Amino acid sequence: MNSIVLKSFFELRPSSTEKTQFTTTQIKPLTTLYHYKLKITAGKFSPKIINRNLRVAVIGGGPAGGSAAETLAKGGIETFLIERKMDNCKPCGGAIPLCMVGEFDLPLDIIDRRVTKMKLISPSNIAVGIGGTLKPYEYIGMVRREVLDEYMRNRAKENGGNIINGLFLKMDIPKDKESPYVLHYSGYNGKTGGGIGKRCRLEVDAVIGADGANSRVAKCINAGDYEYAIAFQERMRIPDNKMAYYENLAELYLGDDVSPDYYGWVFPKCDHVAVGTGTVSQKGDIKKFQLATRNRAHKKIMGGEIIRVEAHPVPQSPRPRRFSGRVALVGDAAGYVTKCSGEGIYFAAKSGRMCAEAIVEGSENGKRMVEEGDLRKYLEKWDKRYWPTYKVLDVLERVFFKSNATREAFVEMCADEYVQTRTFDSYLYKQVEPGNPFKDLKMVVSVVGSLFRANALRREMDSTKG
Ligand SMILES: Cc1cc2nc3c(=O)[nH]c(=O)nc-3n(C[C@H](O)[C@H](O)[C@H](O)COP(=O)(O)OP(=O)(O)OC[C@H]3O[C@@H](n4cnc5c(N)ncnc54)[C@H](O)[C@@H]3O)c2cc1C
Repeated sequence: MNSIVLKSFFELRPSSTEKTQFTTTQIKPLTTLYHYKLKITAGKFSPKIINRNLRVAVIGGGPAGGSAAETLAKGGIETFLIERKMDNCKPCGGAIPLCMVGEFDLPLDIIDRRVTKMKLISPSNIAVGIGGTLKPYEYIGMVRREVLDEYMRNRAKENGGNIINGLFLKMDIPKDKESPYVLHYSGYNGKTGGGIGKRCRLEVDAVIGADGANSRVAKCINAGDYEYAIAFQERMRIPDNKMAYYENLAELYLGDDVSPDYYGWVFPKCDHVAVGTGTVSQKGDIKKFQLATRNRAHKKIMGGEIIRVEAHPVPQSPRPRRFSGRVALVGDAAGYVTKCSGEGIYFAAKSGRMCAEAIVEGSENGKRMVEEGDLRKYLEKWDKRYWPTYKVLDVLERVFFKSNATREAFVEMCADEYVQTRTFDSYLYKQVEPGNPFKDLKMVVSVVGSLFRANALRREMDSTKG
């Protein structure tokens, strides 16, 4: 399940002059950075920590790790973030919902494009335009992950977090409730990681596993496996006139040719487009599906130069176990990507923050030891808040991504203005507000009608095949 980069990536962004090097002697002394006080509710019985504050390691510096480390550092926790590659360029479409920009206070200059139009293209190439219902200030943000991740990590550092360039290897699990976890990692000196590292160890009181789909932290706590998709993406520099077409437009392609259980996409970036697809059930055919996606978009990307080819696993469900003792998983390590949309950036950042908040709260701003129960609180809150979202998207995928006929029905349904408004509202704001009951009923009737038509179409297609 490893990420692969098949072709080198040209300078899409000038490299930072900042030197992110770390040795244990450079760990920042604890300052009084307690400007992130959470409300402490119940009295605690866990031991007080004397002469120091709670020490927490975050493994992985993607959106989950960056936001966890920032929250911990702001909350008075002695924070260590271990990232193996400081200029990591995570294979990703980079689409983020509008609410993430506000909730995570992201500066607008790290957003490459503001997408206000989408084209959903059915197996028979019927294109439905989406976006007409958006308000003037609403958009889907398109980011490059190397930019977003670095920004979030730097903010953790500015708030007092210690950023370590190193590859986490394993940890020794303590036998009692107070002894430290001993982390082993290869410490790197360069900005980019890699090469031969120095064997290092770090003692901490708790660990957040934000190390993505191939999480070593998950292995250390026997968190179990999950079903995953493989997603493949080519970044292409296309001629200016073609780039103008994708100025603020993203395309989604549906059909057995582009994927038996996912969708193909063309997403606009700063000076190129990202063309990709994914699959759960036929991973061995991913290159065939990618070629089909490229062929479907052929006229619009013709003449493009491929500047990077990348692939990575995408979790399809939460891991069987997401915490153990004083270790918890967040983001892809936990398995928080939604079905149907394949969205994981916002959920990674949000779960990182929620887990860190539970630690800050449970440790009374770093003054007490945390317990398993504190981490359980994060999971309970998470499941209560997001379980319905995951379930709805799971059902949508099961119903509509089954065959070309049901995908045609899906596209037909998305032409409806009310469906678009409801879909965008829940995507952009991650909140499902009560809708108009009459319109909701009409929507259900129209969905059932679409599915009937899809079934009839499938029967007709089957009979012509036979
Ligand atoms: C091709 C593709 C397209 C996608 N498109 C979208 C999209 O458009 N929108 C969306 O919302 N989601 C998308 N996703 C999903 C999204 O990329 C993930 O859900 C998201 O990156 C999860 O963030 P994370 O911080 O949990 O993990 P990651 O982003 O995977 O970050 C993990 C970090 O941990 C580091 N790390 C790993 N192991 C170690 C170790 N042993 N030691 C130290 N560091 C380590 C890695 O270098 C990395 O920086 C896409 C995924 C793929 C594969």
